Amino acid sequence: MSRLESAIRRLQAQKIALDWAISEIQNEVGLVLEFGLGNGRTFDHMRALLPGRDIYVFERKIAAHPDCIPEKAFQFVGDFLEMLPVAVSKLGPSAILVHLDIGTGEKTQSLQLAGKIAPLVEKLLRPNAIVVSDQEVANWAKKAAPLPDNLEFGRIYIYHFK
Ligand code: SAM
Repeated sequence: MSRLESAIRRLQAQKIALDWAISEIQNEVGLVLEFGLGNGRTFDHMRALLPGRDIYVFERKIAAHPDCIPEKAFQFVGDFLEMLPVAVSKLGPSAILVHLDIGTGEKTQSLQLAGKIAPLVEKLLRPNAIVVSDQEVANWAKKAAPLPDNLEFGRIYIYHFK
């Protein structure tokens, strides 16, 4: 498979997983958290499907399309590991949907980062929260949910904190 095909499949899997998670939490109370604002593509998608929902974003350096940047009050700017304790004290366990889109292209580093932030992310979750992640989180193996639409294992991960 070419790198183009692989990138397309990854984005398709991301959209299918996010759409499924959004439909699951549609009638639930809670915030949405986006880790890795990047270009703002997935933030924009979630915002469109969840109008009126508070969405907080985490990003080392905001560089998204100007239309895809939330107000400052909804930004945690800095390293995830530094901003997560700030978010825990500000927001508490209030998130019903979390999107981890943290991959930098360096697989080992991205996996390690996911493992490091996972215990802090857990502190932000409401009961029944769903985490859609571009990285597998070994410590959350028992929370893994079946992938919708026969998605191929390994492109996207869904964790359900029932
Ligand atoms: N969700 C984005 C989109 O749809 O446009 C793409 C996100 S991109 C795959 C990953 C982002 O995570 C990058 O913008 C990068 O700066 C950010 N990132 C990676 N590691 C980080 C860290 N330790 N702290 C803060 N931001 C980080």
